[in-house]
Amino acid sequence: MSAVTDHFLAVFGEDPEGVWESPGRVNLIGEHTDYNDGLVLPIALPQRTYAAARRRADGLVRLSSTAGGGVTEVALHDIAPGVPDGWGRYAAGVLWALREAGHLVGGIDVAIDSTVPIGAGLSSSAALEGAVAAAASDLFGLGLLADDGTRATLAALCQKAENVIAGAPTGGMDQAASLRCTAGHAILLDCRNGHVSQIPFELEQHGLVLLVIDTRAEHELSDGQYGKRRSACERAAKELGVASLRDVPYSHLADALHRLEHDPELFKRTQHVVSEIQRVRDTVEALEDGELAEVGLLFTASHLSLRDDFEVSCDELDLAVDTAIEAGALGARMTGGGFGGSAIALVPSRLVPGVEMAVLSAYEHHGFTKPAFFRATPAGGARRTQ
Ligand code: ADP
Ligand code: MG
Repeated sequence: MSAVTDHFLAVFGEDPEGVWESPGRVNLIGEHTDYNDGLVLPIALPQRTYAAARRRADGLVRLSSTAGGGVTEVALHDIAPGVPDGWGRYAAGVLWALREAGHLVGGIDVAIDSTVPIGAGLSSSAALEGAVAAAASDLFGLGLLADDGTRATLAALCQKAENVIAGAPTGGMDQAASLRCTAGHAILLDCRNGHVSQIPFELEQHGLVLLVIDTRAEHELSDGQYGKRRSACERAAKELGVASLRDVPYSHLADALHRLEHDPELFKRTQHVVSEIQRVRDTVEALEDGELAEVGLLFTASHLSLRDDFEVSCDELDLAVDTAIEAGALGARMTGGGFGGSAIALVPSRLVPGVEMAVLSAYEHHGFTKPAFFRATPAGGARRTQ
């Protein structure tokens, strides 16, 4: 936190008016379901992005991150798709989206510092947007952090910033997690209507740990694969005569698949999305019943579906998942968009060191980059820090 105020002072030559924070997230289950109007179940992480900010009178936006890239400078009225260049578009995009929605937002200096690993599938992008959104909301008196309803509005604007200005066609899970999660809970987010239920997620009492394995493998959401998956889902929905794959109930899956038999791609994508939405429901039920072994099995089933039917896994993720399970995890899966990023494993506390050792040595054996580990606990959403 002091790193961000120090950075602000060093770059902009005065103190910020305040500091705001917004978390990264891991999604427990419900992958690639958000843009299908489906269900997701993320938790916010203790790792967060901090934004130190100060209003300016001249309509200029200046941005600087401790992650590098110098100072980005753009006039508010010049912010547009792809403008400014580089990482600054995620931050500037939030101000653009607020203005588009009719909020009176002026110029601002913002310094960024983050403990969320960037590009690790833990949503550093939404953490960045959430921190800037929280700062703008407070500094310009918009009151959008007031309650879950206003936070839902703010999350939607952050998503719009990422989609339109940063050009990343992502769904709304990351921003909802960053702005709407509460400590000790996962949120069950219905991406069709934005409705959130707070689901208690307490592993300690079960002697379990949610271990995150950051594979350090390449993770690039804006590349072609994501768009291809999205458009395949849209085509499948169209062929089935529904608005989105959410409209295919699990009980009708066999029938839907029968109608897609002529197209193996659409068949497999549909199989994943419809079964994954059901797994989210089953996971919530298992959590409510304290059936953590069942949660583990659902994690692993989700991974196999993402690997074989949605085809968004990679060797590093598969190795992390397989090795963790062999070493005693109740279940494991890739989390986030895929093609690298992070995996999660549900591990009995006493077995955590053994799982980490096993994954490290398997990675070494395969010549993969050394992975990083941390224990994820469910933290609260964006707020003013200072
Ligand atoms: P993820 O959200 O999974 O970490 P993304 O590709 O969606 O990965 O977003 C990563 C991008 O977000 C970075 O390439 C950068 O443009 C921006 N970003 C995130 N955090 C920071 C930060 N602390 N400083 C500067 N840019 C950041
Ligand atoms: Mg992201």
